[in-house]
Amino acid sequence: MHRRDFLIDLTRYAALASIVPNDWRVVHRPRFADDPFALGVASGDPTSTSAILWTRLAPRPLEPMGGMSGLKAMVTWEVADDDKFTKIVKEGRATAAPELGFSVHVDVTGLAPDRWYFYRFRSGEATSPVGRVRTTPAAGVRKPFTFAFASCQHYEQGLYTAHQHMARENIDFVAFLGDYIYEGGPTPTAVRTHASAEAMTLDGYRGRYAQYKTDPALQAAHLTCPWIAITDDHEVDNNYADLNSENGFESVEWMRNRRAAAYQAWWEHQPVRTPRANSWADLVMMRRMDWGDLARFHFLDGRHYRSAKSCDDGTKTVPCGDWDDPKRTMLGPDQEKWLSDGLATSKHHWQILANQVMLAPFDSRPGPERAYSMDQWSGYPAAGERLLTSIARYARNRTITISGDIHSSWVNELHEHFGRDDTPIVGAEFVGTSVASGGDGSEQPRYVTTALPDNPHIKWQNSRRGYVVCNVTEEAATADYRTVQYVSKPDAPIATPTRWRTEHGRPGITKA
Ligand code: FE
Ligand code: CA
Repeated sequence: MHRRDFLIDLTRYAALASIVPNDWRVVHRPRFADDPFALGVASGDPTSTSAILWTRLAPRPLEPMGGMSGLKAMVTWEVADDDKFTKIVKEGRATAAPELGFSVHVDVTGLAPDRWYFYRFRSGEATSPVGRVRTTPAAGVRKPFTFAFASCQHYEQGLYTAHQHMARENIDFVAFLGDYIYEGGPTPTAVRTHASAEAMTLDGYRGRYAQYKTDPALQAAHLTCPWIAITDDHEVDNNYADLNSENGFESVEWMRNRRAAAYQAWWEHQPVRTPRANSWADLVMMRRMDWGDLARFHFLDGRHYRSAKSCDDGTKTVPCGDWDDPKRTMLGPDQEKWLSDGLATSKHHWQILANQVMLAPFDSRPGPERAYSMDQWSGYPAAGERLLTSIARYARNRTITISGDIHSSWVNELHEHFGRDDTPIVGAEFVGTSVASGGDGSEQPRYVTTALPDNPHIKWQNSRRGYVVCNVTEEAATADYRTVQYVSKPDAPIATPTRWRTEHGRPGITKA
């Protein structure tokens, strides 16, 4: 598709929410035997004047349709200056409809820039918990901010102790980089167990989100501040690439239906704006967020449009197969251009790329031969090279990538040419560990330490669970790596084993 057609398509795309029929037969005062707000509330995708408020009515979360009847239900919402709701600044009504899983997405507009607000919902006699939401600073403002990023919360493999601590952080927002759910069936030996078989249908994914969202620590982390969420593979199917499934034998049509179900359920359970797409399988998830003039965030989608894996996936000695074919893509040509144009034209002081998988290549084979993960950017070296070229050309040493997926913490310098530590540093990458996936973990690096001398751009590695807190000012960005010692039993304390800093306009990452 040509760039021009892509833009036309974006403006032509019907809002999927318009599939909700007219408001007749809405139950204005539904009666609930159980709390319909059992999945909590959330806010997200803030701008300087608006934000999304989310909830989903589910009085019995693990039952089909969350225990709701087939009728639409009226939900009211309020936004206030104070948590007692004495000064209400906005209020309105929304409809929770079965077509969208009884989810509610309110795009509250007309808010003041750079302000915190409180919000809640009501339906029938029930009132939701009170959440906090904030707007971004207005264009022209350069104000420091702090955010956390996290990923990979396999419900069976660990408790959400990291979220318990994240909920108490003094942060402006959370960037969630994917693997919010895991699609697989139950594992009998797990810390806790998936309540349903592998998710493949809309009801299957809805049920999985519902189970995850019953976790009180996850709900608490959503109450604290707005989130901006992107998806990785497990929101659909382990290691999928576009319409190539993990197993590889399913048809493209089957995978398209599965992806449609998965993307719809993701949208229904996240505080994201009304999607642009002609169908759920084509849901456009890439988007930007500006923090005044200090930073522009590019939230990327690195699964949806990517070329099939090279060399049968896994970690492979390179070169192999079509690994270095210049036609192979991670973001797809349209998103790649969107990102490159965005970097070229943005006047924002920092560029932050929120992305699924690690950009810096890790050569895990000691000695002169190289072995790379085929699932990360290292599996798409031509695409990685094109991205690094854009960074070097348009935003050299004022670009930070934040990544997840790998269930371990990394601090990586980004060099101008892919896999070439002898070329100039052009950016910094902070890779966050998992919230729960992988269980307790250890203080040891996840990967062979004998390979580290082959990778001088990797400054630090650790395999505990946790998240990262970043503070961004005009001068520098710092990353505090927060970890917990265990997730197999409750209430592990939080620690900050290391802290790193990169300065605006200067190559490299140093210990802070
Ligand atoms: Fe994961
Ligand atoms: Ca090597």
